Amino acid sequence: MTTTLDRLTEKAGAPTFGQDALIVCDSLVRIYQSEGIEVQALQGLDLLVDEGELVAIVGASGSGKSTLLAVLSGLDVPTAGRVRVGPWDLMAMTPAQRVAYRRQMVGFVWQQTARNLVPYLTATENVALPLALSGRSRRERTARATTLLELLGVGYCADRRPGQLSGGEQQRVAIGVALANEPRVVFADEPTGELDTATSDEVLETLRLVNRELGTTVVVVTHDPGVSEHVQRTVAIRDGRTSSEVVRRTHTRDDGTEHVVAEEFAMLDRAGRVQLPQEYREALELSGRVRLALEASHVSVWPDRPRVEPRPDDARPGETVVSTEQEGSR
Ligand code: ADP
Ligand code: MG
Repeated sequence: MTTTLDRLTEKAGAPTFGQDALIVCDSLVRIYQSEGIEVQALQGLDLLVDEGELVAIVGASGSGKSTLLAVLSGLDVPTAGRVRVGPWDLMAMTPAQRVAYRRQMVGFVWQQTARNLVPYLTATENVALPLALSGRSRRERTARATTLLELLGVGYCADRRPGQLSGGEQQRVAIGVALANEPRVVFADEPTGELDTATSDEVLETLRLVNRELGTTVVVVTHDPGVSEHVQRTVAIRDGRTSSEVVRRTHTRDDGTEHVVAEEFAMLDRAGRVQLPQEYREALELSGRVRLALEASHVSVWPDRPRVEPRPDDARPGETVVSTEQEGSR
């Protein structure tokens, strides 16, 4: 299986970036102008998501997570770059296509529960609403809403209005609303932001169930670093770029027992840039000029610091140690 990392590090001349992925963000830039000040919310962000994946996006406040989801959900248009979801090129949609995209291809769950649900409708009516907009019969609407609420574990809430539901129940009903039109992707922007840890885990588990049972691709933004416990892949965004990923894999030991290994990767962008974690930079006082060396299986990064006693066998990469006497005798 080709992983995202393989594809990102693919050599030039390979097929189009993200050709097989369901979601492709290629060097996305989004610049906001406010009162003459330019804010670069996305600064060349690359991201690939395969069909059927459940991906969490984490990052500090202001790192560009909501901007990314607004772009992916068709609410906002990036300043530059390329963004595709399935067959839809989000940079080149007419207003009518945008409506169709938002209605058929994707579903959303927002942080503010009030934005997800209509307060005077019951849970069933809320889930049935998007189905009415796409012209399904009343019977079909109620049947689908009932099935979805059952699947999401909130069947008992069917006849209650949002005000009669707990925060966690509201968000699970909201997931039902997002799923009503059988979208291929669900985007959730901090759906657990207003919930306590236990309830937040419950909502994340519900998104996992949706991904597993319905095969829906799920992209969930959260500021909760513990989310990587729940999902296979966690992408970290920093300053409007994807900076690292945590991938969880299940390994089988020799005795047949399974254990989960979480591995952190840095992301190499398409221009070949990689962000070194701050701890690494601090530990070796790496800043400004560094030395790079290509080894048989990896690349080393060295600080550029004057050495005390240069010795030929101490040569650092990219450097040939030649003593002045040798040089003079040549
Ligand atoms: P996050 O969701 O990760 O907290 P956002 O995507 O909301 O981050 O914001 C990224 C950056 O863009 C922030 O610096 C924010 O202040 C700025 N920003 C977001 N929306 C706007 C806007 N409509 N106008 C101006 N600046 C904005
Ligand atoms: Mg946000």
